[in-house]
Amino acid sequence: MPSRFFSERRHILVVDDEPYIGRIIQLKLEDGPYDVELVSDGHSALSRLRGEAPIDVILLDIMMPHMSGLDVLAELRRLPHRAGTPVIMLTGKGQEADREQAAALGATDFLTKPFSPKKLLARIDELFTR
Ligand SMILES: [Mg+2]
Repeated sequence: MPSRFFSERRHILVVDDEPYIGRIIQLKLEDGPYDVELVSDGHSALSRLRGEAPIDVILLDIMMPHMSGLDVLAELRRLPHRAGTPVIMLTGKGQEADREQAAALGATDFLTKPFSPKKLLARIDELFTR
């Protein structure tokens, strides 16, 4: 049996308009058992999500130009095959109203920027050990 059968990696879609943040997240998670795909805007995220490729977790920045993370979240929850995918929202300080709205739209969890990459990895590991 091929060894990859035993080393299944999870797929994570990271949506953030700041390339530097996306890259840090990617480096940290790819140290763990995760493959990361980075996109920098909501439209790219949705076109990816409308496809059938497996995505196990979505990290979604709220503050993005053109289409906010809240808009993306509302749209993706309407996709039957993504309705149950965990979504962790990346929020800034003082965005309590956005958090409430995201929770109402079906966000799974929140991380407030700036967060440590280590904490992020721990949070994602948790999703798969519950
Ligand atoms: Mg942003």
